[in-house]
Amino acid sequence: MNDSERFPLEPDAAGMREMTAEAGELIAGWISALGQRPASDTRLPADLAEEIRRAPPAGPEQLETLLERIRRAAEPSYETAGPSYLAYIPGGGVFAGALAEYLAAALNRYTGRAGPAPGFVALEESVLRWMCDLFEMPTGSQGLLTSGGSISNLTALAAARNRLAAGRSDRATVYVGEHAHGSLLKAARTIGIAPGHVRSIRSDADLRMDPEDLRRQIGKDRAAGLIPVCAVATGGTTNTGTIDPLGEVADAAADTGVWFHVDAAYGGFFRLTARGRKRLGGIERADSITLDPHKSLFLPFGTGALVVRDRDALTAAFSEKADYLQDLETDEALPDFDTLGPELTRSFRGLRLWLPLHLHGVDAFRRQLDEKLDLAERVHGELAADPLLEVPWTPDLTVVAFRLRGAGDEAQRRFLERINARQRILLSSTRLGGESWLRIAILSLRTHEDRIAEAVEIIREAAG
Ligand SMILES: *Cc1c(COP(=O)(O)O)cnc(C)c1O
Repeated sequence: MNDSERFPLEPDAAGMREMTAEAGELIAGWISALGQRPASDTRLPADLAEEIRRAPPAGPEQLETLLERIRRAAEPSYETAGPSYLAYIPGGGVFAGALAEYLAAALNRYTGRAGPAPGFVALEESVLRWMCDLFEMPTGSQGLLTSGGSISNLTALAAARNRLAAGRSDRATVYVGEHAHGSLLKAARTIGIAPGHVRSIRSDADLRMDPEDLRRQIGKDRAAGLIPVCAVATGGTTNTGTIDPLGEVADAAADTGVWFHVDAAYGGFFRLTARGRKRLGGIERADSITLDPHKSLFLPFGTGALVVRDRDALTAAFSEKADYLQDLETDEALPDFDTLGPELTRSFRGLRLWLPLHLHGVDAFRRQLDEKLDLAERVHGELAADPLLEVPWTPDLTVVAFRLRGAGDEAQRRFLERINARQRILLSSTRLGGESWLRIAILSLRTHEDRIAEAVEIIREAAG
């Protein structure tokens, strides 16, 4: 029997079980071996490239063949799911998150509105409420799941612009720290704020936004007849994990009458830990907060979130009358997600949070985050003790920036190459003050003490 008979477009129960089991074999084998995989090997073999680029055939192929092709296509990569991934901001890996995605797609409920799937929408709303509570948001606040931090930032900026400068985008101005994430510039441009109206706020020697410079620039713009709309602080920069002085930025935003947004895509969920809670103090005063469960909750890529103090700011920016939706029942107690952001039809991301959080409990995530903070402290201490290295900033979270002492950019580049050539860890570099720095970012679920000890050894050897 060929696969077109075994697995037709609508398989029977036995077929579904068999397909699931075959995919499960691939996944279990793959994940169990992550620790041994090279940190980064992106060579795509020519025969495989040819195979995966082929157009879909008119008739069926074998599932087994296709799964093997998928497995081979996954191989050339940065090993983003493994313990070696210490570059950029590491992403997720919680298996229950993947299982949730499978369930969500298989059950395929329509969650753009509450009416067609009140159970699933209530389930998603329960994790959104949990997030609002985590940041002490008041009654009337609202969460929204997005595809990631970029779309969360976009949604927040659109809400702020709509509230303070509706119909006057040409005069709207936005304020971001000099180390802010690039997605904010992209978001501002996308919603029609001129690139020349996005102000870069100076940082101090600790790389933290200077609230005085923020006040000064807002005042200057207002005096010039522009409309200051939003001050964005970062709750853990991508470069160095630095947390801006959130309380002081909140004061400046309140005094100058602008929306206060915190981009906590990387750092937000560290609020679950005692250290993170302290360091992120002031975040609870934000009008909106970007979070990335696919970073600091270890969930699969494509899971972002936004928390907004006033739900009405979102509905004012995003709800539209749609005649063809007139039959949909509304449920006053549940949100219609399509009125809160740009999407109508959407994947049911709620389950990706709900299942892991219930299955493992919040403490399991808290412990993971605490472990990463411990590991970053350890890396900082050990690298700072090495006279060959320059390690000026004590990490607020889990990124440690360092470089070879007294060496230029080219030497730093070769230093990074020597570290990564070992294939046991993957680090990335960035530029700070116009100069090249290496960074180690510890946020993979699967990175533990053993790999970090190895990382320190590799870095020190490569420095010597
Ligand atoms: C990762 C990141 C983003 C962008 O989030 P995506 O999920 O990649 O779209 C925005 N801001 C900060 C601080 C980040 O670290």
